[in-house]
Formats: sequence, C-alpha cells, structure tokens
Amino acid sequence: MSKVKRVYTFGDKKAEGRTDMKNLLGGKGANLAEMNLIGVPVPPGFTITTDVCTEYNSVGSEKTIELIKEEVEAAVKNIEDIMGTKFGSNEDPCLVSVRSGARVSMPGMMDTVLNLGMNEDAVKGLINKTGNERFAWDSYRRFIQMYGDVVLGMKPASKQDVDPFEEIIEEVKENKGVELDIELTVDDLKELVDRFKKVVKERTGSAFPTDPWEQLWGSIMAVFDSWNTERAIYYRAMHQIPEEWGTAVNVQAMVYGNMGDSSGTGVAFTRDAATGENIFNGEYLINAQGEDVVAGTRTPQQITKEGSFRWAKLAQVDEEDRAKNYPSLEEIMPDVYKELFDVQKRLEEHYGDMQDLEFTIQEGKLWLLQTRNGKRTGAAMVKIAMDLLREGKIDEKTAILRQEPNRLDELLHPVFDKKAISNASVVAKGLPASPGAATGQVVFFADEAEEWAEKGKEVVLVRIETSPEDLKGMNVANGILTARGGMTSHAAVVARGMGKCCVSGAGGVKINYREKTMKVDGKVFKEGDWISLNGSTGEVYDGKIDTIEPELSGNFGEVMDLTNKFATMHVRTNADTPNDATVARNFGAQGIGLCRTEHMFFEGDRIKAMREMILASDEEKRRKALNKLLPIQRQDFEGIFEAMHGLPVTVRLLDPPLHEFMPHEEENQKDMAKELGISPEEVKAKVEDLDEFNPMLGHRGCRLGNTYPEITEMQARAIIEAALNLKKKGVEAIPEIMIPLIGTAEEFKMQEEIVRKTADKVFAEMNDTIEYHVGTMIEIPRAALTADEVSKHAEFFSFGTNDLTQMTFGYSRDDAGRFLPVYLKKGLLKHDPFQVLDQTGVGQLVEMGTKKGRASRSDLKVGICGEHGGEPSSVEFCNHVGMNYVSCSPFRVPIARLSAAQAAIKQS
Ligand code: PEP
Ligand code: MG
Repeated sequence: MSKVKRVYTFGDKKAEGRTDMKNLLGGKGANLAEMNLIGVPVPPGFTITTDVCTEYNSVGSEKTIELIKEEVEAAVKNIEDIMGTKFGSNEDPCLVSVRSGARVSMPGMMDTVLNLGMNEDAVKGLINKTGNERFAWDSYRRFIQMYGDVVLGMKPASKQDVDPFEEIIEEVKENKGVELDIELTVDDLKELVDRFKKVVKERTGSAFPTDPWEQLWGSIMAVFDSWNTERAIYYRAMHQIPEEWGTAVNVQAMVYGNMGDSSGTGVAFTRDAATGENIFNGEYLINAQGEDVVAGTRTPQQITKEGSFRWAKLAQVDEEDRAKNYPSLEEIMPDVYKELFDVQKRLEEHYGDMQDLEFTIQEGKLWLLQTRNGKRTGAAMVKIAMDLLREGKIDEKTAILRQEPNRLDELLHPVFDKKAISNASVVAKGLPASPGAATGQVVFFADEAEEWAEKGKEVVLVRIETSPEDLKGMNVANGILTARGGMTSHAAVVARGMGKCCVSGAGGVKINYREKTMKVDGKVFKEGDWISLNGSTGEVYDGKIDTIEPELSGNFGEVMDLTNKFATMHVRTNADTPNDATVARNFGAQGIGLCRTEHMFFEGDRIKAMREMILASDEEKRRKALNKLLPIQRQDFEGIFEAMHGLPVTVRLLDPPLHEFMPHEEENQKDMAKELGISPEEVKAKVEDLDEFNPMLGHRGCRLGNTYPEITEMQARAIIEAALNLKKKGVEAIPEIMIPLIGTAEEFKMQEEIVRKTADKVFAEMNDTIEYHVGTMIEIPRAALTADEVSKHAEFFSFGTNDLTQMTFGYSRDDAGRFLPVYLKKGLLKHDPFQVLDQTGVGQLVEMGTKKGRASRSDLKVGICGEHGGEPSSVEFCNHVGMNYVSCSPFRVPIARLSAAQAAIKQS
C-alpha cells in the first residue's frame, strides 16, 4: 500500500504541488508551488494538506502529529538546506511563518504565527546574522505576543477585555514617556520579552515554549483550530463554503520587511479591484512587517508613481509633502519596482486573471509571499472579464464562467440621484475603497449595527479601522466608513468582497468611541445622524441622499448579450404589475413565468369587492360580487400583457385561502361590517368559519376554483377578454393560464374544462379568437409522482418549488423560521431549502415529474417559478433536468441569465 502524502515542499524553483491542486493544498499553497515552478522568487516552505485538517478534526493533535511528523521534519530540513539556516541556531536561525490557506481565500478569518523559532539562542543568532539588535529583540517580542494570542488563547475574548501584551506595551511606553513602538530601545524590548514571558506563565501556568519544534506543532494545530472559530464559521456560512473542506497549513521561511530602510512589504493588484481598470496598483510600507499594511495603523504608500499622484489628490496631500513623506516604490526603489512590475505581468499572463500579490523586500531583494485571483467588486468582475476577452487572453466561455452570478446584484444597486447629490455637501474625503452609494444612520460599533439593522434601520458603520470581529456589522450596514487604512485595509478588502460601499482612510474624520461621536470639518455627528457615502469617489456627505436605479449598458450589457449566445433555457420573471414586468423586460426577461393574481385583490376598492364575494351566502350573490371584480382584473391583465407584448405571460388563478383576505382585528372587522352594511357579528362569524388549523394545506389553490367554479370563470374571462381587447389594438398577448396546487389529474381536468368553456364563450361573444394554453403548477408531491397522468391534459408544467419544498420536507413555510436557523447552525442542513433547491430530495421529484410529464406529452413545456428560479445552483440543476425556462423576481433576471449560460457551458 502506498503511503498517503500529507506534506508538499516548495522552494528554489522546485515544488511538489501545482496550481490545480487547490483542493488539497488550499489556494495559497497551490499558488506558492506554482510560483516556484514559473521561476518567481518565493521563500522556501511546505504545505500540510487540507485532508490533514479533516483528520485532525476527527483524531486530535497527538495522532495528527504522529501522522505527519516524519514528512514535516524532512520538509523543515529542506527549508534549512535552501536558506542555509538551522532551527534554534545561535548563529543563523531558521525562522518560519505558519499560515492558514483554504481552497478559497477567507481573508483575515483564520490565524497566522510569524517569527516562529525565536528563543534566547535564536535572538543571538539573528543579531549575529543581521547586526541589528533592535530588530532581533523586536521580532522576539512580536513572536511571543502572536503565539500567546493565537496558540495559547490569550487573545481578548470581548471588546471590553484588554490584550495583556498590549497592556504591558502601553505601560512600558508610559514609563518611558514615548508614544510610538518605534521609539522603544533595545533594553525596552528586552523588558517586554521578559514581562511577556511572565504574563504567559501567569495566565497559562506553563513557561513560554523555547523549543522551536514545540512552537511549530503548537502553531500548526492552532491554525487547524482556527478553521472552527466563530468568525470563520460565519464567513463560511456567508459564502457557502462547506465545513468539510478544511484548511491547509503553509510553513514558510521568514523574510523580513522590517530590516531597515532598504526593506519593506506590500500588497499589489495587477488591475484595479474596485473599478476593474487595467492599471497595476498597490500599497507598501518601508521597514514594516506584512500585517502592518493591512492593519490600517500606518498610512501606506502607493507602489506606482501614477497611483501616488492619484492618492495625493484624493487625500489632499500637496506634492512637496507627497514626494518627501509618501513617495512611491517606483521612485525610491526603481530596480525592485521594475522586477515587481515584471513579476506581476508574468503572474497575470500565467493565471489569465487579475492577481492579488503580497511581497516583501528584504534588504533590497524582492520576495513574493502570495498570489491569488484578486477579490473584486461586481463591476470590476464584469469589466476585467470583458477586457481580458477583448485582449484575447480568455475566450467567451471563460469570460462567462468568470462571473459570479450573485455579484451582478451589485451592478443593479442604486446610485445617488444626480439632482439630490448636487445639493448635498461633502464633509470629508477618503479613499474610494469599494464603489456604490450608501446612505444611513451613523453607528460606531459592529454589534450596534446589527441591533439597529434588526430593527429595520439603515445604518452606516463608522470605525477608526475594522477588524475581522466587525464582519457581521459590516454585512448588515449599507456602507462602511473608516478613518484609517488604505485601499488594501481590512475594511476595503472585506467590503469589496461583500460588494458593499466603503470609504476608507478618511483622515479628516475624528472618531470618539466613548462619546459615540465623529467630528468632521468642525461639525459633530452623533450616533443616529444621517450620512451618505460615495464608494466610487471616496466622498462623505452630510445627511440622507436619495438614490436611483443604475444604467445597465457597457460591459454589463455585453455580458448579458453573451449569455444569449450560450444559454439554452429561457429566463422569465415573476411579476404581478406592469411596472415589475417592464423592469424585468429591461433586464432581458423573456416572458412572465408567474403572475400571482391574488396580489391584485388587495388594493383600494378591490378588497371590498373581494370580501363581498367571500361573504356571499350563495352563488348568485357571489357572481354579483365577482362581476365587480371582473373589469378590475381585466384592466390589470391588459396592463401586464401590454408590458410583455409578444412574450408569453403565465397567469396563475387564485391560490391563497380566502381567510387571508378577511380582517382579523375586531376594529377592522367593525369597519368592514359598516362598509358592507352588515353586522359585525356576521363578519366575525365568517372569519371564524374560514379559520383553518393549517391553511397552507387547506382550502386553497385549485380547491377554491373547484368548490367555487365561478371564481375560475371570472378570472378566465378577464384574461381572455384582456387579450382580445389588446389584439384589437395590435398588441400581441400570449396568455398561459395556470392552475395552482393540483394533486390529481382530475382536479386539473375540472379546472381546465371551466377555463376552456369560458374562453369559447368569450370568443363567441367577441367574434374573435386568440391562442392560449392551459397548464398547471407542480407543487404537491403527488402531482410530481403522477405527472404522466397530469400531462395528458396539461400543456405546460411550472414547478412551484416553494410549496413542493414545504410538502416534501414537511416544513411549514410560515413556521420554519423557528428551527431552520438552528438546523443550519448545527449543520443538519447545508442550506435553507427554501432558498437553495434541495437537489437530492426535492430535486428527485422535479426530475421525475419532468420525465414523466414528457413521457405522455413529448413537447411539454417545463419551467420553475419558486424562489429557486433565481438562485444560481438551482438554475444549473434546472438546466440539467432539461427545463425550458426558469422564472424569478425582476432583479434576479440577470443573475438567472448568467447562471443559465454557465450551466449550458458546463453541460456542453
Ligand atoms: C411555489 O409554491 O413555489 C409558488 C411559486 O407559489 P407560491 O409561492 O405563490 O405559493
Ligand atoms: Mg405555491
């Protein structure tokens, strides 16, 4: 039996892994290997596979160490050999970083340990090697602090707790009367190391580990553990990342960006991650370690000269100040810049996509620490793919597959109303970190953002800087404003990932957390005051500004055109009003797949006539009330057919139980009695009479039409009359009449007969005809099971997967909110089945229903109109089943079109 390989080494332009091994090595590990293979300078190291994380979760740390010990020891030796260093050496110590790396990047969600291998000997070794005592002791204290926080669990648990290490640093600084870390002397740093060790002993009961191997095993296990921290779990849930993927662990030789003025560290993008423009850009800091750039504690400088000028303009920094204090890398290290520019070009060419790079310069030598496909906004996603297509770097299919359907949503979001914005006053300017328009009430803490949002308030989260703990608050806020941090700060990267408007590094904003205020331009904003952000320009406005719908042309329009070339399924919309129908048509909807007629009965006088119909004691009275509803319905249908002229419109007959149309409060019942000229008791009695224990499974759907055929007659008449009226005006209506909630073929037959008889009557009366079809919804499991019987009569099927999910799982649509969140949290369900189609269970009914339906009627038109019709993975399933169309809400039409094209490409 061959031994399972659990550790993959890389270094010196050799690697055991490759870029296509992301599942096993994680994104970072696979790319570190690949960079070696294409000759990019990368510090040597090794990757422990994601499978080991899964093993660790089931067998624990001791057994895991046994499994990988031999391979890890050999891999560390490989690092030592390449670098000419030794673990714990007092001459030239081998120091490593330990980082997580899942299949897809989860920025800031998991743990990292840097400078591992430091102890009393290694400090001497580092001084010996670099001659820089301060640097050596600073690395040591940083290591103890990080190891203490990450591995020994000393990180503060809540925002009230203080980091014990930070507390000591503050004390030492205060005693010395200095403000900045950089002002601490070698002796101060030695004191920090001493006191850090003491606090570790106090808190954990054990001495700080000095053996590099003990440190290494501790860190590896801590990184595995960080896969299951609350914030990582939340991030996975948000991005639908399966728990079982696990994280890989990357151990890599340390290189130092904090070895003086010829060293530095930075982050770069091969194209603009916010707008998608083809401009190399990024930020760096001289004499700093990796985390300093993203932490937002120092103002990073721009890599390119052009970027530096742009930044200075936005940050209102004059040229003298810029050139002296914030010069670009291009200006101060032209050779390193040139090498970096070549590397980024090579990496983008190699991967055929925008790359996000991390690099370190150690005493004038460039090292690449990471490359990955860069996170980007929805707008940048579309632009970059279309640009790469035009540049001939990718083909049309790849351009389609590069788009994440749900991200299109961002392009459909509102922008500021031009008139409203021209009257608004700019109070501050920051960096355009993530585009879009946001308006909301100021809150200063992430948990408060959550509380306010839960109450239905619109909020803008304002922070000095953000950290991974703020994730939930950022997610619910309309926009994010930070006073510190650059374009690659945590706030900026995370906001772009979420497609959320963000302005970062607005230095003019002075935040006081204790008083919950921010001072801008002499004005004080309190918690709850309104502000607005423009994430595309970095402008911050006073007050609430109206927003309008965006224009959909350019690259977005081109992507949509391209979807038509590949998609085989049509995309329709669920719309009940001419306005919704028009919006959807503008998004490219190819018809209406579901027009819910009950929504037409609620407004104004309509509800009165409806209630009159419900209260009617016999058929004659019911018909009288229905006659009042007929012209209203006819007019509604005319509006919708006109908006959709030339395209099919599926009109569903009345579905909800009549109880829903009646008032339930005593006060309202009295009002209704007065309006209809009857006694309140009569109303109350009828409401009680209609009351059902389980209305979702009660007197609804075709059961209404089969008990009160005159309702179906009225609706069929309204549809046919509307279509014929439009025909006279030269407008083509293509009605498809849909019977809801059937469980047996007989239920359908009875309804169909009423519809056809009514249509014939109207044709005779109006002396004209039109083509129309009668079909049904498949939303009861029995209908799916007997679909071959049903399709002998029904001309089309539309899967109502909301009800089909309800009845297949036995989860009430109205009550599932009580337990579904718990089920999702406990992992009993991977997704909410009302949002993402359950392909294994409900999907079987859909697939079987389609097959059986077409067995009796080969040209049966099949679609879906439940919520799933606009959800990408469900759309892919519908394509696989061979549906003719999916139908979804208007704003999801572009998402469904893209998903349909992707599904067709994947299937071909
Ligand atoms: C369905 O059940 O999937 C459906 C579209 O109908 P409704 O949501 O109106 O019950
Ligand atoms: Mg339904």
